[in-house]
Amino acid sequence: MFYLTEQFFSIQGEGKYAGVPSYFLRTGGCNLSCPGFGASYEVDGEVRYGCDTYFAVDSAYAKSWIKVDDSKTLIDRLKKEFSAIGYKPHMVITGGEPLMYHSDTVFYAVIEWLVSEGIEITFETNGTIEIDFEKYPAYKFCIFALSLKLANSGEPEAKRIVPQALRSIRDHAKESFLKFTIDADLVQTSALDEIEAIREFLPDLPVYCMPVGESRDTIWKNDKAVFEFCMKYNFKYSDRLHIRVFDTTQGV
Ligand code: SF4
Repeated sequence: MFYLTEQFFSIQGEGKYAGVPSYFLRTGGCNLSCPGFGASYEVDGEVRYGCDTYFAVDSAYAKSWIKVDDSKTLIDRLKKEFSAIGYKPHMVITGGEPLMYHSDTVFYAVIEWLVSEGIEITFETNGTIEIDFEKYPAYKFCIFALSLKLANSGEPEAKRIVPQALRSIRDHAKESFLKFTIDADLVQTSALDEIEAIREFLPDLPVYCMPVGESRDTIWKNDKAVFEFCMKYNFKYSDRLHIRVFDTTQGV
């Protein structure tokens, strides 16, 4: 059994496959909370801080999540959606942290079906969860966007950087790349040192950097600094197309 918070057809907004029409499954729950990203929201009068998908992270929202306890029901719905779309789009499985469910029977059955259909799958993951690729071989056919969290996430390093989980994904998955969300302040302080420290044990993965921002306004505050940072150090700049186009609207 796993939780979905939303599913929708859109265009991948960030990372290596930005611009590709994609069908999104967003799971509920995360093993991190990233209070440093500064999106604020209120639960029963209490102000909390988190990332831009706090509604898919904080269990206070769990009552609005959809429980998936039967893979066939979800697969049948996907078949109908793909038929309406007219082709089998790239799948993006995001969250929250989708790999929290990687060993769940229902979740894995959906992944196996997608792989058997020849559908390209990208996991958007924080890279902290180790996968047993021999026990769950369907993950070998998937792409992993490793959205590692840096100090600006507000999470302790030991929790957000798990080298053995990252090496395992790099060694077994079809493809993986690093993706960092950084802001103008981090560009001036620790961004380069933090990225270099990660590249010491993952030297061969492409690096994408994108600006912090849950809205157009906050992206505008950070994009130029990140753009110049990428030029200076030969990283790839990733924009966040869905926020540029739709601002704070969810489900797009
Ligand atoms: S790891 Fe990602 S989804 Fe989880 S709290 Fe941090 S930014 Fe949000």
